[in-house]
This record gives sequence, structure tokens and C-alpha cells, in this order.
Amino acid sequence: MKRILSLFLAAVLLLCSFAMIPSVQATENRKLIAITFDDGPCAYTERLLDGLQARGVKATFFMVGNRIEANADIVTRVYAEGHQVANHTWSHPELTTQTDDGVISQVSQTQEALDAICGAGTTYLFRTPYGSTNAHTRSLVGMPLIQWDLDTRDWESRDATAVKDMILNYTKDGAIILLHDIHPTSVDGALAAIDELLTQGYEFVTVRELFRRRGVALTEGELYYNCPPNGTDLGPITAPVITSTVTDGKLYITIAAQEGAEIYYTTDGSCPNQESHKYAGTFPVESPCTITAAAAYNMNGSRSDLVSQTFTTPTADAPKIRIDDGVLSLSTTTVPATVYYSLDGNSATIHSQAYSEPVTLRAGAIISATAAGDEYLASPVVNGYYTKRGNFFHDVFPGRWYTDAIDLAVSSGHMSSDSDSYFAPCAPVTRGELVTMLYRYAQIQREDVPAVPFTDVTETDECYAAVSWAYGAGIISGYPGDLFLPEQPVTRQEMSKIISTYLSRRSKILPERTGQSEQFTDAALISPWAAPYVEDMVAIGLFQGDDQGRYLPLCSVTRAQAAVILIRLAEVEPSLPGAEL
Ligand code: ZN
Repeated sequence: MKRILSLFLAAVLLLCSFAMIPSVQATENRKLIAITFDDGPCAYTERLLDGLQARGVKATFFMVGNRIEANADIVTRVYAEGHQVANHTWSHPELTTQTDDGVISQVSQTQEALDAICGAGTTYLFRTPYGSTNAHTRSLVGMPLIQWDLDTRDWESRDATAVKDMILNYTKDGAIILLHDIHPTSVDGALAAIDELLTQGYEFVTVRELFRRRGVALTEGELYYNCPPNGTDLGPITAPVITSTVTDGKLYITIAAQEGAEIYYTTDGSCPNQESHKYAGTFPVESPCTITAAAAYNMNGSRSDLVSQTFTTPTADAPKIRIDDGVLSLSTTTVPATVYYSLDGNSATIHSQAYSEPVTLRAGAIISATAAGDEYLASPVVNGYYTKRGNFFHDVFPGRWYTDAIDLAVSSGHMSSDSDSYFAPCAPVTRGELVTMLYRYAQIQREDVPAVPFTDVTETDECYAAVSWAYGAGIISGYPGDLFLPEQPVTRQEMSKIISTYLSRRSKILPERTGQSEQFTDAALISPWAAPYVEDMVAIGLFQGDDQGRYLPLCSVTRAQAAVILIRLAEVEPSLPGAEL
């Protein structure tokens, strides 16, 4: 009994694991027609597409390659509306008169042009111009060759009524009808005939569908004229069903299609093609997203209608991390939502600890938090580092070459994060920032602040007092036009000059200059005015070359580098001979 039960369970599980829609069991064999249009695309193709769309009819277009690029929009529409796109050579020659290379290039050039729209790897059917073929050209073409069993001679009559009558008089179940969409009369005649045949119960399908529905495989190099009824109708392809689930705060999409069909989909609202995602099981998406999918036995001509669905489960707002005197509090503006957090260095998930009340932190803690709720997807994860010295950063973490210097520079008041606790270690230091750092480092205390002679630094600027001091002390000068350019990034050679000058103004005696700056492999890039200051910086160990012996004089200084240099300056300065001013 136990064994029978487990077999039963296994069977149930097996059934459930295939998220498929049962295939349509056709109860009657429908009358099918493949209507085909050659020699386009051209301007009339669009009117034809409007007419086919209004009637819910699918057709097959044998296109001439050299017309494709100029009419790419039309080809794109043919493909997107579920018609079949097919190859009718590059320039419409009689293939049996061509060299082998000529035949191959006629076919492959067209295929390349079509692939640009339908996606690489698309398979095409072929029709030879004038129906002219022999066994040798067929072997070169390498595709099934589609002829016809009803030639409307539309190119000869150029008369819509004559075209319509030809179709109505000679069509039978399984026919392949030859028309040319380069004649407006063919478009009118075909649409009129379609109206009549629809009332007679015919269903219009692509050439590929005509054969698939009747269970007839198409073989490369073979000729096909029609596909008469044979008692088989596998039925049309059911559109896939797209559903979403929320698991662990993330949005997942599942797409189900009938057995044997593949599913192609996009997540940006565009029409899927051969190069789009091929569905291989439930997948996560960001919200909102639009999934557009088709079930297909072949994306070019044997696919379902497209299904498009937008999923908009909102995402919770990222939590805010606040630390006051070593006590962590977390909050989110999303209601109702819970904040989850971890302090062990792992990224927070909705399985982490739920936040309920402030937590006392240990120094060195790495905080990670996310917010989520029943009706909300998990927010982006927010991380931060509570340093040894009690600073908090969202973008400085332990283990980097600059971490300790930044921690110290901030604790010492030389530098600071922004009000959201971002230090921006990789951002370039501006001239205004460098002067401010140095001003704070030097702990300048003054009663009044002399005006600055620069038009681009005003009293409300954070760097104003620092610029006033540095200008007055001769540490900086401006640019022509009474400009200081406070937002301009500082290069390594500029910073060298500013720090060297600062030390001189503090009456520090620097080592004698011995031409060390010439030893750098990029010494030629050091500006002549900067060379003495570069030597000063190397001599006192504030700046070094990189591992390739370069000084990189013209590179911007990052905030992380500035912190390291400032901390080194604090170590070096007291040991330099000279007197404080
Ligand atoms: Zn043709």
C-alpha cells in the first residue's frame, strides 16, 4: 500500500512539474489555405497588412533581399504580426542560370538581411523566382522549396476582380496560392477573396503552419506545391499563459504553453524573435516589467499570437539606517512593511532578523538592511559600516587600503561624509574641498574672515573661510578673471604644490631638492612649475610613485587618496624641522 501511495504521489508530482496547457484537441479538420505574396516588401504591403490584420488572417511573404533594408519597418511589422517571412533571393534572377556561388550568395545575402529583423538562427522557407529550379540548385539552396498549386496570374491581369475570381474559382483545401504584393490590384483582389473564403469556413495559415497542422514535415531541398487534407489537424497554437508569484520578496514569472511548443519572451515590451529569451522555467524580474511571449514550434511562421502582460507589484522603499551614539535604528517609509537586517556581514534578506527596536552596535559592525511587506517586493539592500572610531559610512567598508585613513580623517574633522553618510571615496577632490580639508587640518581659528578676490567663491560657500585663509597665506592663487574654480578637480601635481607651500608657510624646512622628480617613468608629464613640489612630496614621503614607477602628475586626486595623504601629513609634519607660526 505504501509503495502504491508513493507511486501515486510521484505521478502527481510529475504532472505538476510540467506547467503546461493541454494541447488543443481539434474536433474537426479545418479547411486550410496558405496565401503567399512574392517580390515585396513594398508600399502596398502595408495596406495588405492592415487588411489581413482586420480579418485575423495569416499569410506568407516571399521577400526579395535587396528590398528588405529600405523597407525594414514593413518587414518588422510582417514578422511581429505573426506572418511568415520567407526568402525569394536577393535580386530575383532565374536561379538555374546562375553559377553555384551566385546561387549561394542570392540565398545567403537575403537570409542575412532577414536575420537582422527576425534574429540570428531563424529558419526560412524558399521560393525560387519564376518557379525555375533543378536538383542542383535545390541542393545549393538548403531549404524546403515552396511552389504553388494556384497561380492567380495577378501580374498579368492587374485586375482586382480577375484576381479574386481566380482565387475563388480554383482554391481548394490545402492550396498554396501565388500572389504578388507589388501590385495594388493583387492586394484588393486577395482581400475580397479572403472575405468570401472566410464565410466558406476556410482558415488562412502560413505555409509552415499548413504543413505542421497536417503533420507533414518539410525537408530541405524538396519541392512542395500544396498540402491536401490527410485526416490530420494538430490545431492552432494556443497563446501562452503568463503568471506571477512573489517569493522571498522577489517577483517571479511563470509562462505555460502547450506541450511541445517552445516559449520565447521579452521583458521590455518588444516583440520576441528568435534571439529573445527562450523560456526554461520560472525566472525573477524587476517590477514593474512587461512580459511579451509567444508559444512556437517555429518563431517564423509557426507561433501563437503574442501575449503581453505588465506586472507592477510595488517595491518597498529602501530602509534608512540611523546611528546615534552607537545605537542603530532602522525605518522605512513604506507602510505596511517590515525592515529586516543583519550585522554579521551577510546581505540582508527577508529571512534576516526583523527589526523591532533600536540595537546597540559593536564597533566595526557591518549593517545590511532591506524592507518588504505582503504587498511589496523587497527593497534594494542598504549596507553600511560602523567604524572602529564610531563613524558610519554607506560606501566605505573594512579591508580597503583607504578605510582606516578615511575613518581617522573624518574622526579628526579634516573631512566629512555627506548628510546621507556617503563619503564618495572614488570621487575627485575639488580645489574647494582640498583647501577646506587643509584649513580644517591646520585647525585655523580666526575672529574675522578677510574677503576673497574671487568672483566664483561667495560667503555662503562652505569653502569660503578656507579659501580666504589659504589665499591670505599664499598657499593658493587664482585663475585669470578673478576666478578660483572651486569645483575643478585637483591634480596630483597641483596638490603637491599646495601642500608644499602650506608646509613652507608653517615655516617647515623641507629636505634639499635633488632632482628626484626626474626618476619617474612619466617625469616628462610633470609641469616645470610643479617639479620642485613633486620632489618635496617624495622627499617627505607624502606622495609616492605607483607600482610602475609613475607619478601620474595630471591625474585627479580621489577623496580616498586625499584622506591617506592627509593622515600621512599629520604623521610627518611634527617631525619636520622648523617652528610653528
Ligand atoms: Zn518572384
